Amino acid sequence: MDAKVSSRADCPDNILDQIKRLEELFTVETEQLKAITKHFVDELNQGLTVEGGDIPMVPTWCMGKPKGDETGTFLAIDMGGTNLRICEINLPEAAGAFEITQSKYRLPEELKSGEANELWDYVAHSIEKFVKQNHDIDELGQLPLGFTFSYPVSQESIDHGVLQRWTKGFNVKGVEGEDVVPQFEAALAKRKLPIKLTALVNDTTGTLIASAYTNPEVQIGCIFGTGCNAAYMDKCGNIPKIAHLNLDPEIPMAINCEWGAFDNQHKVLPRTSYDIIIDKASPRPGQQTFEKMVAGLYLGEIFRLTLVDLHEHPDCLMFKDQAITKLSQPYGLDASFLSKIEVDPFENLDETAELFHSTLDIKPSRHELELIRRLAELIGTRAARLTACGIAAICTKQNWTTAHVGADGSVFTHYPHFKARQAQALKEILDWPANQGKGAGDPIEVVAAEDGSGVGAALIAALTIKRVQDGNV
Ligand code: BGC
Ligand code: MG
Repeated sequence: MDAKVSSRADCPDNILDQIKRLEELFTVETEQLKAITKHFVDELNQGLTVEGGDIPMVPTWCMGKPKGDETGTFLAIDMGGTNLRICEINLPEAAGAFEITQSKYRLPEELKSGEANELWDYVAHSIEKFVKQNHDIDELGQLPLGFTFSYPVSQESIDHGVLQRWTKGFNVKGVEGEDVVPQFEAALAKRKLPIKLTALVNDTTGTLIASAYTNPEVQIGCIFGTGCNAAYMDKCGNIPKIAHLNLDPEIPMAINCEWGAFDNQHKVLPRTSYDIIIDKASPRPGQQTFEKMVAGLYLGEIFRLTLVDLHEHPDCLMFKDQAITKLSQPYGLDASFLSKIEVDPFENLDETAELFHSTLDIKPSRHELELIRRLAELIGTRAARLTACGIAAICTKQNWTTAHVGADGSVFTHYPHFKARQAQALKEILDWPANQGKGAGDPIEVVAAEDGSGVGAALIAALTIKRVQDGNV
């Protein structure tokens, strides 16, 4: 058994005492945050070595930030954990400007665990619909495409990438270990679409570049959404694993950290028995340890497993004598369920009561409602505080005492108090004075990003075309 795993403690028969137990289980104190950050720095460095480590630290071949003079028309697609988004982006002469037309399609659940050709055919078909809606295909020249593919891929060039492993619950057969680009291009070719994949981009890299387009101080791009990850700007000379290529050491290179894999060895993260269940039941046990504690896909599940445990434990009173059929459904609650609980005024928790009744057929008592609310807060707070360790680690590793971080994703934009909790944790980790840790104006400030998978991917395609024209790598 893992030494860090807290076992399920005895369940006090008083619900308010149970709240105390949950607080102990889910709270991450300052000193722990600091220890986690320290180990995070080590793992980031290890990932850049020739031997590598758990955190992939992928050189993305996105070499440099936009200057503002990028122009042209581009397609961008974003195959994320939840949606497929297709955009056409026009970058006009004016610096920092863009125009965008887009459509969003929900990725059908069955595609996520089906066959590769079904997935690519769905993507190509959606692109075909989108392009035909907006153009006469026969009159269209070749459109460059920036493809945001938000999974860990190893890249030897910007227009190729071998999928290391699926994350975020995906399990499509025949893609892991393969270059995704020829698979995708074959599906495009079947439909004779005049599109050229120019750049394969991670969502964090897109976020970094899109944010740097409007705010040149941005050095890090983060996604706090269905999954969680960051990319930052390094220099080729700082990346031992590409030293053999003899690139100019001063050339910038965006690194896609894939920090979801942090602490896969279970050395520092305070995992609970619920985190362990999530990992074991996932399609890729042992992978993405950090992501499984902080990303939107898992927050509702951590919450659900905790409540089921409290109900099933013989000494607990939680939902006593009530059926928990609906609550027993794995992944039946998502992060937005927790968001709703967290915004409900504590005085009456009416909305929470209504939510439990309408969604789960459960009627919680007042004390149970208080436990539910506290549990949501604890899980949301733990996630926000742990993500601060990743940001602090990148800045520490780079010796950045000030930085702007462009952030996007459903948890960052919609989850109540996420930003404030993250800023507070950054302050604790980095020992900022009392008047900091409020977000705006902090030395390391996390700001809402520009559209990474649309504008960011288009900009990276534009930068790539320019680099090729200039005869550079
Ligand atoms: C993926 C990353 C991605 C992140 C956010 C993770 O599961 O491995 O590539 O950046 O989710 O979407
Ligand atoms: Mg996304």
